[in-house]
Amino acid sequence: MRDETKCLHSGYTPENGGPRVMPIVQSTTYVFDSTEHIGQLFDMPTAHMYSRFSNPTVEAVEKKIADLEGGVGAMCTSSGQAASLLAILNLCSAGDSFISTSTIYGGTVNLFAVTLKRFGIECIFVDAEADEAEIEKAFRPNTKAVFGETLANPALAVLDIEKFANIAHRHGVPLIIDNTFATPILCKPISFGADIVVHSTSKYMDGHALQVGGVIVDSGNFDWKNGNFPEFTEPDESYHGVVYTRDFGNMAYIIKARMQLMRDFGCYPAANSAFLLNLGLETLPVRMKQYCENAMTVAKFFKQSDKIEEVRYAGLEDDPYHELAKKYLPNGTCGVISIVIKGGKQAAVKFMDGLKLASNEVHVADIKTCVLHPASATHRQLTDEQLVAAGVNPGLIRFSVGLENVEDILEDIRQSLDRV
Ligand SMILES: *Cc1c(COP(=O)(O)O)cnc(C)c1O
Repeated sequence: MRDETKCLHSGYTPENGGPRVMPIVQSTTYVFDSTEHIGQLFDMPTAHMYSRFSNPTVEAVEKKIADLEGGVGAMCTSSGQAASLLAILNLCSAGDSFISTSTIYGGTVNLFAVTLKRFGIECIFVDAEADEAEIEKAFRPNTKAVFGETLANPALAVLDIEKFANIAHRHGVPLIIDNTFATPILCKPISFGADIVVHSTSKYMDGHALQVGGVIVDSGNFDWKNGNFPEFTEPDESYHGVVYTRDFGNMAYIIKARMQLMRDFGCYPAANSAFLLNLGLETLPVRMKQYCENAMTVAKFFKQSDKIEEVRYAGLEDDPYHELAKKYLPNGTCGVISIVIKGGKQAAVKFMDGLKLASNEVHVADIKTCVLHPASATHRQLTDEQLVAAGVNPGLIRFSVGLENVEDILEDIRQSLDRV
């Protein structure tokens, strides 16, 4: 099946006489005919037993997303943050380190630089544009992973995924890619060598600002038996001696994430949330196409305006990331544009407050046009140095183009720019 078809049919197939629409299984628990059967599940979870870590409705969505990304399995989480957290914790323990590009989402910077550090896990940030030899200097004997974003939020830098996959694999560790802005419709990181893909499904995948969520996808391609990951190859005492690579083959990573981390942390979405996410996924290919088209029109408008100092949209031919976009995002570079208005922060705030159709909100990649000032919101906790490293100019506005008629979006921009 192709993407449009997968979005409608993957994950759930009705039985004879069964409901056309994937049912919401709103139940915390599941019933078995014997104590013996339940006992076996605690050794080897082959069925749903408790909705803290698995549920049939959520599972259907997991299968659909895994299929879209070209992975062997997926696990949904209650937020994108939880997905990034568990993706790392499945590899790193106290005393380990990992490498991340510095151009990533502000919330992820906090998680990696501040909170994980308190747990004894060190993140070493690298410049995504640096050459391979420079990036390789960040590796230590305890490095367990490399992390980056396909299309960085909000710098809109396109990551050279193949370069990072090669570097990670030379050092025997997996590459984790946050593919939130691109979605599998615009880019499939696994096809470029990524081993693990994470998403905030709160953005385009849900698309309607209905529920916060995340997902981790396992490519099934990484060799966990290369000596660097004993937790995968030695018995897990908390599961009566399960050996993930021996017992689950190329699904070792995603099953370990569920059996150890989701069991213990429980940041699993509700069935109802998965149902809503599935509705968003059904129309994702149609929506992504229109986001890209609308955003290209808006980016070109900003580009010719004498009130705008800089436009960052990799779809534009003179954008510094256009060449990388042609390789990794040939069908479009999503609906998010970063602009820097002349006149700095004050002008930025005036422009944003003057918009009537576009709303000022803490969200992005939504069906309705919205704007945000990263330096005073999502990236507020970052130091000036971190802001620069993340590609965030103090006057930068993240303009998330929605699916309104593009003429209405342009009219709104025009009337507000006129007053700046
Ligand atoms: C929003 C976002 C996150 C965090 O996701 P939540 O669902 O808000 O927890 C992570 N990465 C990127 C790129 C994001 O845009």
